[in-house]
Amino acid sequence: MESSVKHFWNEMTERASAVAEGAKDAVNDAGRYVGEKKNSAMLYIDLARLKNDCEEIYSEIGRTFYRMNSGRWPKEGETAEHRIEGLLAEVDVKEMQIRAINSKLFELSGKTTCPACGKSCQGDAVFCPACGTKLAK
Ligand SMILES: [Zn+2]
Repeated sequence: MESSVKHFWNEMTERASAVAEGAKDAVNDAGRYVGEKKNSAMLYIDLARLKNDCEEIYSEIGRTFYRMNSGRWPKEGETAEHRIEGLLAEVDVKEMQIRAINSKLFELSGKTTCPACGKSCQGDAVFCPACGTKLAK
């Protein structure tokens, strides 16, 4: 009993650090990839694809959870909890890629954010139209 619990925790820790490493690489890749794109049309395509991937992963999490709770998850092989954990890690990575693309799209739009009120302003605006704060150039 003791040793199987220990084994479980060791395995979980290894998995967690492998996932974290993978996520870091994915974010670095996304940053590099997004940085090279000069064309927002390509980024919109990627954004749509990533959002669609996330929807599919959420559906898969739902199915896994349902099968686990209704006793339909196979007893052999990967546990439902591991499966869900892996799926959540995949969503996290994709969400980070989506954020990277969104901020690049914002940058490409030539807009800037007011440091005082957070409103998005035209890139050539000298003052924020909402609060009148002078925008840094
Ligand atoms: Zn403002």
